[in-house]
Amino acid sequence: MFQNNKNTICAISTPTGKGAISIIRVTGNYCLKICNKIFKKKIPENEPNTIHKNKIVHNKQIIDEVMVSFFKNPKSYTGEDMIEIYCHGSLFIQNKIMQILIGHGIKTAKPGEFTMRAFLNNKLNLTESEAVCDLINSENEAAHNIAIRQLRGGISNEIKKLRQELIDFVSLIELEIDFSEEDVEFADRKKLIILLENIELKINKLIKSFKYGNAIKEGIPIVIAGKPNVGKSTLLNCFLNEEKAITSSIAGTTRDIIEDKININGYNIRFFDTAGIRKAKGKIEKIGITKSLEKIEQAELVIYMIDVTSKKSMIEEEVKNIKRKYKDKKIIIVGNKIDLNQNNNSKSNNNIISISAKNKNNIEEIINKITDYIKSKNTEHNVIISNTRHFECLSLASNNITSAKQGIENNLSQDLISIDIRSILSNLGEIAGEVSNEDILSNIFSNFCIGK
Ligand code: GDP
Repeated sequence: MFQNNKNTICAISTPTGKGAISIIRVTGNYCLKICNKIFKKKIPENEPNTIHKNKIVHNKQIIDEVMVSFFKNPKSYTGEDMIEIYCHGSLFIQNKIMQILIGHGIKTAKPGEFTMRAFLNNKLNLTESEAVCDLINSENEAAHNIAIRQLRGGISNEIKKLRQELIDFVSLIELEIDFSEEDVEFADRKKLIILLENIELKINKLIKSFKYGNAIKEGIPIVIAGKPNVGKSTLLNCFLNEEKAITSSIAGTTRDIIEDKININGYNIRFFDTAGIRKAKGKIEKIGITKSLEKIEQAELVIYMIDVTSKKSMIEEEVKNIKRKYKDKKIIIVGNKIDLNQNNNSKSNNNIISISAKNKNNIEEIINKITDYIKSKNTEHNVIISNTRHFECLSLASNNITSAKQGIENNLSQDLISIDIRSILSNLGEIAGEVSNEDILSNIFSNFCIGK
């Protein structure tokens, strides 16, 4: 066994189970020396960034015929020497090779340990490392887009620029502290306020994008609301293409909120079928209605259903009320049960999409409206944040900017202003990992898969 091999780690990087091939990764600056002990043909150290046909041999027995790639530090994913073994994907072979490597003193990697090493060796910053995790977890095109943008710099570039400008100012303020007896002012307070306002504007834009970014990751919440019996559960079933919600002709049967996640045109949507909104007849229905109203408040988008067989004046009144009540929300009004409409005025117009949920008629039009809305949101934000940790750092930075601005306006002493600005720098620095502590790091990387 080699002595200094403690820092060499290995893991199976492909999903657990049988497959055509499987990839075992080894990283650490002794990985070549150790791996060469199990390869039939030794890979020369002076042949980095190469791929080799090889055999794994243990106790003079051939375990597998494999391909092996060798990357020399610093030109590898982790920034250390790195080997990838492409073996046949039998569970026995995968486990056997792992056992042999461990037998040579290599440790098994913890979740995210390869990417953590890449971060510690400055191959990736923290947001880029997190983007790797998001990329692996992205289940749809929109989440994939956000992760790719972040992997290519995303908010870290933006944050870096803002931080640098502040660092220049804080140095001047701290210089004033050194010359405090001479009452000099090196940092122009007016310019500092302008800079802080500029940063605040950009930060608040990013904070605002989080609602959308998070929704893309977790599923965009869409509520189906309307009076009892208008066909909400039937519409949810159309979306789901299965009978999940119980439909019934007895008004007020959906008393709880039914949630379902589906993928529409590449977007994850979380649909909520709510209790019909009307004057509640009992205690339980009242609770259901309160929950519905709460859900509408939280939703990104509301599909509000009306029954087109109701009186025209009632429909007009209902639409007017809803639009007035939720004027800050995107509401798609859907007129249901056109199959029953005798008056034949059942064409969709600008305000109402006419459908028959029962006959699955015109559901496409609602789907297109939903997709258009999400696309418009996507172009509204240049850079989108989807990570709760980034959101928290930015929110703290925003609070500290408010405090710094107040401090300057109230002519507070340089040391107090400098404390606020240092806090902003630290909040922003934490995002890309320029300022980080071990707890934050292990927390972030523990969410990764093993082998990444
Ligand atoms: P909810 O209380 O709003 O969830 O309404 P449901 O989905 O439970 O539907 C109430 C009743 O209306 C059920 O008997 C459905 O079969 C019926 N219904 C729903 N959509 C339509 C439709 O498009 N046309 C007709 N004729 N009946 C419908």
